[in-house]
Amino acid sequence: MDAVTFDGHGDTEVIGYGEVPDPEVGRDEVLVDVKAGALNHLDVWTRRGMPGLDLEMPHVPGSDGAGVVAEVGEDVRRFSDGDRVALSAGVSCGSCEFCRNGEYPLCASFHVIGEHVPGVHSEYAAVPADNLVPVPDHVDWETAAAAPLVFQTAWRMLNTRADVSPGESVLVLGASGGVGHAAVQIADHAGAEVFATASTEQKLQYAEELGADHVVNYEETDFADEIRAETGKRGVDVVVDHVGEATWDDSLRSLAKGGRLVTCGATTGGRPETHVQRVFWNQLSILGSTMATPGEADAALEHVWDGTFDVRVRDVLPMSETARAHELLENREGFGKVVVRPDSEYN
Ligand SMILES: [Zn+2]
Repeated sequence: MDAVTFDGHGDTEVIGYGEVPDPEVGRDEVLVDVKAGALNHLDVWTRRGMPGLDLEMPHVPGSDGAGVVAEVGEDVRRFSDGDRVALSAGVSCGSCEFCRNGEYPLCASFHVIGEHVPGVHSEYAAVPADNLVPVPDHVDWETAAAAPLVFQTAWRMLNTRADVSPGESVLVLGASGGVGHAAVQIADHAGAEVFATASTEQKLQYAEELGADHVVNYEETDFADEIRAETGKRGVDVVVDHVGEATWDDSLRSLAKGGRLVTCGATTGGRPETHVQRVFWNQLSILGSTMATPGEADAALEHVWDGTFDVRVRDVLPMSETARAHELLENREGFGKVVVRPDSEYN
């Protein structure tokens, strides 16, 4: 079968598309005939390489994907041939102290399909049955592939970690990205007043269409100054930050007293300076968040399947053009998710 591959870590030239061995289906696994996959910033980090990430090369990337069940392992009861499914990429052990408590994303051996183990950007993928969610017939493959990682991540950030209440104010940074556009909709659905930043007028308009009440062009103004001005110097209750170094100080500066910063990523770097006096004097909370529990993923995706949340797809490319997909993410071109389909499925 054909698959996207990384031949090593580095620039986009390490990305290939070609023949790899067919996957073997384990007892608790399902073979999925992949119809579509979606890119995340995680794919860019995995391609570049991160400290502690030791992958067997060539690596097949891809943490988001959807397709049809083609074969089930002998211990699998939840699925049968022909079922429509999407991948939820977080893998937990089920037996450590955190898993025993239901906190699967805190699992001592937590890892992500596509990041730490082979992913699903291929014609077929064998994945644990526990990592699949059913997809209703009316949902198209692009939506099914693009929603799981970012919607479950943003759902846990806002509803579980930041525990947003109706009437609170939430600032979402980078509303044009995958997590950003999910966070705007989830915060709006939670009854919050939503502030969003983006870099162009068109992206700000999309953010408004998805539920942002106030938008700030961060290329033109200092967003923290703008937030303080728009809130009568008060600041917002919650900031959703996945940008890291470039925004960290301004994110903290945008918070009201007692405010919460919730972070799930650091696309511009992970070692910002923190003004500690601001943290203790204003009694701020800094909350980390990664992926979600299966229950949180189900809750988020139910709202996608029923149309409450809209998955914006910026582009659909054949998997052989995955290098271009990485460029779209790295250059912050467009709004929403980049989808890739196996070349044999692309027309
Ligand atoms: Zn565990």
